[in-house]
Amino acid sequence: MPTPASLPTGWIDGAAHKGAGPQHTVLNPATDDPVATLALADAGDVDIAVASARAAQHDWGTATPAERSEVLHRYAAVLRDHVDELAAEEVSHTGRSIRLATEFDLPGSIDNVDFFAGVARNLEGKASGEYSGDHTSSIRHEPAGVVGSISPWNYPLQMAIWKVIPALAAGCSIVLKPAEQTPLTTLSLARLATEAGLPDGVFNVLVGTGADVGSAISGHPGVDLVTFTGSTAVGRKVAEQAAKNGTRVQLELGGKAPFVVFDDADLDAAIHGAVAGSLINAGQDCTAATRAIVAPNLYDDFVAGVAEVMASVKVGDPTDLATDMGSLSSHAHRDKVAGMVDRAVAAGARLVTGGVRPDGPGCFYPPTLLADVAEDAEIYRDEVFGPVLAVSKFTDDDDAIRRANDTVYGLAASAWTRDLYRAQRAGREIKAGCVWINDHIPIISEMPHGGVKASGFGNDMSTYSLDEYLTIKHVMSDITAVAQKPWHRTVFSG
Ligand code: NAD
Repeated sequence: MPTPASLPTGWIDGAAHKGAGPQHTVLNPATDDPVATLALADAGDVDIAVASARAAQHDWGTATPAERSEVLHRYAAVLRDHVDELAAEEVSHTGRSIRLATEFDLPGSIDNVDFFAGVARNLEGKASGEYSGDHTSSIRHEPAGVVGSISPWNYPLQMAIWKVIPALAAGCSIVLKPAEQTPLTTLSLARLATEAGLPDGVFNVLVGTGADVGSAISGHPGVDLVTFTGSTAVGRKVAEQAAKNGTRVQLELGGKAPFVVFDDADLDAAIHGAVAGSLINAGQDCTAATRAIVAPNLYDDFVAGVAEVMASVKVGDPTDLATDMGSLSSHAHRDKVAGMVDRAVAAGARLVTGGVRPDGPGCFYPPTLLADVAEDAEIYRDEVFGPVLAVSKFTDDDDAIRRANDTVYGLAASAWTRDLYRAQRAGREIKAGCVWINDHIPIISEMPHGGVKASGFGNDMSTYSLDEYLTIKHVMSDITAVAQKPWHRTVFSG
């Protein structure tokens, strides 16, 4: 067994920071071996990190867009030089397959950095002008200030990038807390940012628990904006903590994506799309296809086809390039997923494939297909966050759209059809931050990722996410040089 690495508690003011909190071991969920040990941060460390971010914010926020862009370009280049190391770290603390890390996490994250290096120089707004006739009005987009950010364990590297990079492009400084189960790549990102020339204190990281460090960040009076990615339940707690100081929040929360297969769909495409969309990252993806809602004429063939393709998915050692799907993130999480599947079967769902925990070390769980799932079943309504697809049948198009929207969540959805009008209707009527037509999962830096309903509000990625990290100021300058203005008559007439 390799000796676990000894990690710092965080990265503050451009250097490793050692906290005095309890010792924590990061495990490899594919082997159960320890990967790293570190001392967790506490609320006192949050004060130090916020002070560092505050001290650095003014100079970074007043650097020219070109200067900020140049640092981000250099950062992208440094990340490119470290892709192998970052991918190996990402695999070691998540159990995800190396193919997912090298073909999805790393290229997507680096593309995001490249994209925001350009966006940093493209702030847009309303034209300055004499809207009142007596004044020149202009709009200033200014950095929101110090950002406190909290990220989840499912895509540690990508979620950190989605939070940090638009903040940096906007001129904010940041204190980021990754999930304590998966801190390796976030610590590396901060160290590599310093290597790329990001000024000290602009990007700080602290590893700690949600109860201690997450709540201290979200309730910190020195934080100007709290951005959070994680579960809906915790997101609401974060919003409550931030509300005590009246701090602005951005929340990227859970999902329960419908996957609607209309009666004219390309069945082969829908089958392959459903397997890829439900099993990506072993289903630990907020946009994963979790509820397939299928037309009666295609139902049996869809279920049989998905079962066949799922059976071909190779589950195992995530470091092996031949592996399709690695492990889940922890034993506790696997117990949660398995419990939901067991209860679904007990409640009458048909287990078509999977559903049995393998023996041996690691938190593996097989691709699992449940058919004939009732609309009121827990597995149909609640987030599973595992490699599980629940299938049910709709009656007609109205019923399909109704079922797609019959969820508290609204993060992502897909519709499968060859009919232009059906596709347009799905895009218009399904309530979600993103509706894919004849695909499920692809994301791109230029387009936003965000939710509605219990999936949160605000956006990651795209120029829309830059807006999350800016404030808008109106500067209105009198151009008449007249002492008594016409509008003064509303206050005094003498
Ligand atoms: P989680 O909500 O349990 O934890 C997320 C983060 O919040 C972690 O860093 C955790 O330590 C911290 N936290 C826990 N309690 C806290 C508290 N009281 N105050 C402040 N912070 C606290 O989520 P998770 O299990 O790590 O991630 C899975 C969830 O994230 C799923 O619900 C998934 O849908 C969601 N997610 C959403 C998106 C999106 O873009 N909408 C992306 C990825 C994941």
